Formats: sequence, C-alpha cells, structure tokens
Amino acid sequence: MIPPGLTSLELARESYRGITLYAPDRAPCAVDLSDNTNLWGIPPGAERAIREAAVSAVTRYPSLYAGGLKESLARYLGVAPAMVVTGCGSDDVLDSAIRAFGEPGDRIAHPEPSFAMIPIFARMNGLEPLGVPLFDPEATLATGARIIYLCSPNNPTGNAMSRSAIEYVVERATGVVILDEAYAEFAGVSGVDLLERSERLLVTRTMSKAFGLAGLRIGYAAGSAALVAEVEKSRGPYKVSALAERAAMAALAEGADGLGWVRAHVAEAVAIRERFAGELAALGLAALPSDANFLLVPVPDAAGIARHLREGGVAVRPFVALPGVGDALRISVGPWAMMERCLAALADALRTTPA
Ligand code: PMP
Repeated sequence: MIPPGLTSLELARESYRGITLYAPDRAPCAVDLSDNTNLWGIPPGAERAIREAAVSAVTRYPSLYAGGLKESLARYLGVAPAMVVTGCGSDDVLDSAIRAFGEPGDRIAHPEPSFAMIPIFARMNGLEPLGVPLFDPEATLATGARIIYLCSPNNPTGNAMSRSAIEYVVERATGVVILDEAYAEFAGVSGVDLLERSERLLVTRTMSKAFGLAGLRIGYAAGSAALVAEVEKSRGPYKVSALAERAAMAALAEGADGLGWVRAHVAEAVAIRERFAGELAALGLAALPSDANFLLVPVPDAAGIARHLREGGVAVRPFVALPGVGDALRISVGPWAMMERCLAALADALRTTPA
C-alpha cells in the first residue's frame, strides 16, 4: 500500500532523490567546440540514406534489434553479428549493460575523472559508483566491484589507457569489464581483439563522434554472444530508429561516401589536434596529450574563461577542480577555421581574465 499524503518527490524511488539531470551548458553558439561531435558533418552516403528514407522509414516500427546494422557493425569490427548489440546512443548501451550485470546495491568502479554519465547511470540502476584514480589497474581491481568501467581514450583527459593496463584488468577482473571506446577511431587502437580471449569484456562504441551521427543516437557494443544477449534483454526492442539504422549502415559502407569519408576526417581531426596543441603552447597553454578528437587544457579559472569565450561566440566545456588536473577546458577539434576562432578568443580571454 502506498501511504497517502506523499509529496510528488516522495513518490519516486528513494535512491532517485540524489540523481540530478545531466545538464552541461548546451545553449547554441556560433562555434560549438563543446561536445566532441564531428564538426565536418556526416558521410554523404548517410545523408542520401536519410533523404531517401525520410518518409518510408517512419510510418512503421523499426527492426526489433537492428539486425541489419549489427551485420554492418560486425563487418566493421571483424566479429560475428551475434557479438554485437546496438542502442539509442552508447549512453543507452552503457545504461543497459550496467542494469544487466549489476544488481541494485552492487558497485561499479570507474576512473576519476572520466565520463560524467557513469555515476549517474550507476545510481539510476541502484548501483554504487566508486571512483578510482585514472588508469590505475591495481586500485581498480582492489575495489572488487561487480562491474569495472574503463574508458580509452578517456573523456575528458583525452589519453588512451595502455594496452598492458587494459589486459591486466581484463585478465584479473572477477566481474564484467566495460571498455568504453567512444573515441577509438581517433586513437587508432582498440581492445576489440581482446574479445577473442575474454568472455567478460564488453567494448562499447558510438557513431556520435567519428561518424558524425550524434543526433540520430546510435551506439553499440561488442562482446561474447552470451554477454551481448544479456545487454539486449536489458535494452529492449525498437531502440534504434529506422532512419538511424539506415543512415548508420550507409556510413559503414566501404567507399568514399561511407567509411572513406569517416577515415579521411578522422585523419584530418588528428592532424588539426596536433597543430592546435602547438598553437596553444604558443599562448602558454599546455594541453594534455590526446588520442581523441578533443584536447583538455588546464587553465587557472575554467568557468570564467569559458564564459568569456562564449561571449566571443565560442563554446568549450569547462571542468572545475578535476582530480589530478585542476581547472581545465575541454576543446573539441574541428575544421581549422573554427580552431582559429577559438585561439583568438582564448588569447583575448587570457589577456582579460585575471590568473
Ligand atoms: N562514452 C563517452 C566516453 C563519451 O564521451 C560519450 C559522449 N560524450 C558517450 C559515451 C555517449 O555517447 P553517445 O550516447 O552519443 O553514443
């Protein structure tokens, strides 16, 4: 029996009261370097698929579990289709995996700093998030957590975890290891081949970054068929829209309009990232080494400088007092003209913001 007279807040699960909405500043801005999406656009093949499917793909339900997309992704990763699960962004895949492998009350170990949604997904599913120092395999394993979350390259620091450290954790973990590879295309390295050796590893990926399809919300994971089946149960049917599935399959097709476009823009992003880091150094700013499509730049007053940049038409993501880093700006990499705007605004902010 629900007691009468509960406030609307009290009607919710008690464990939900401490959960806050994910709310970065997403107000529109002329040059938006705040969310690590693909600032060059989308593969031409995906654009064609969206136009062609605009009406025909929306009147009926999509496929239950995106079987066609799974086949395309399996080819892309070099695994069997039964080893792939998709979702409404990798957010959905991560959330579903946490729900599938953790009972309420279990713990999930995650690096600090890392992807801000992990502690939120943990609490949404009744799990306890446990922060551990970044890329510290011993500290991670010592938690004895039911689920271990690793992120490589890591958001927001940008650096990839060493292969030996990933292997060390995967070989010794007693529960499931989730390896978040949202930015793997930019790093050029991946732990997907470790799936041949481990039944407890789940590698999550996204089409929001290198593939330019963030607005369509397409994420996926690869793991043993048994592991993936559990994530799929937890995820439920119809999570990838028909339009998204068609666009994603076109983006994954070999050729200049699909994977060729993606690879060319990944290479361009990596080259511009290094050039931009050099220009930042000339301003006296030392970006952390990055294997992703963004740079983390320690600054004295991240919130103040980000506000100043926004007034100048440039959005970046400020982080205040990050463990091991301090205040920093996370700046996405896009076409050079955007980076020049950012450099000019940064130079202006540094002149006028007191250290
Ligand atoms: N993992 C990491 C490390 C991310 O940075 C992001 C997006 N910022 C995601 C997962 C989620 O991406 P999406 O839901 O768009 O696939």
